[in-house]
Amino acid sequence: KLTPTSTVWMDGEFVAWDEAQVHVLTPSLHYGWGVYEGIRAYDTVSGPAVFRLRDHLQRLHDSARVYLMDPGWSVDDLTEACLELLRRTGLESGYLRPIVYLGYGSMGVAPALDSTRVAIAAWPWGSYLGESADQEGCRLMVSSWQRNGIHAVPPLAKATGAYVNSALAKVGAVRAGYDDALMLTSTGHVAEASAANIFAVRDDVLITPPISDNILPGLTRDTVITLARDQGLTVKEQSLTRSELYVADEAFLTGTAAEIVPVASVDDRPLAAGGCGPITKQLRDVFHDVVRGRVPTYQHWLEIA
Ligand code: PMP
Repeated sequence: KLTPTSTVWMDGEFVAWDEAQVHVLTPSLHYGWGVYEGIRAYDTVSGPAVFRLRDHLQRLHDSARVYLMDPGWSVDDLTEACLELLRRTGLESGYLRPIVYLGYGSMGVAPALDSTRVAIAAWPWGSYLGESADQEGCRLMVSSWQRNGIHAVPPLAKATGAYVNSALAKVGAVRAGYDDALMLTSTGHVAEASAANIFAVRDDVLITPPISDNILPGLTRDTVITLARDQGLTVKEQSLTRSELYVADEAFLTGTAAEIVPVASVDDRPLAAGGCGPITKQLRDVFHDVVRGRVPTYQHWLEIA
């Protein structure tokens, strides 16, 4: 359940949480034409800090570009807005949600694209898949819903409307008793979970699907690739089939909300390592230290509020 904070940034102003409203005829609500980000702030040794803030805001700009929108605020402007929001809400850690959407005033499937509005909210957000999934691993089900493809809804952009695809898969998986859905491409390659990327580990080599397999280019994925290589591990960005996942030693999900979550089973086939495997644990431990500013080499990824 969402925990309100004191204020929300809307088009350059700080407004009270309950007053952060949009009109019911906002075109983005009707057609899903909007782009957003999910960003985490951590309680670090230097106080609250946002992990890879500029990279997330650059992805927001990239997503807006795909959807022909000019956010009207630069990455620098939005960086400062996010940091000021964190200061004003007094959050020590939490989740930030910037969104670029279309303002009220036009209607129709081609709404006016020059009416962009930007808002940023922040609130406390704990474990995304729950404590037991974090500790013992999550149970994944391959969804019969195909992941959005490059010919339909561009997977590279984090667009609001694109998430009906993820939500159909996630809701179906949860109703069937699983923690999350795993989505495939039209050619049967593993793409990603509903809101997280996936890695498999076999014989100490990490494999994660390439951008061309319809994934969102996750920043946690990028972080893990960097950390793993710096630890001397081999990482391959290469297509995966569902059965390659069944026979993996370990697998894990990566995402801003999810962080790093071990995969316990895929379609009821337990992975060999059972629970959290040794490589997953090694990377998760490093990740948890890095995001909390405990590793000087990666300090540049943290923007201190
Ligand atoms: N894939 C999808 C579909 C997502 O929604 C997310 C969460 N933003 C991710 C992957 C992971 O991306 P990131 O690590 O940048 O949060």
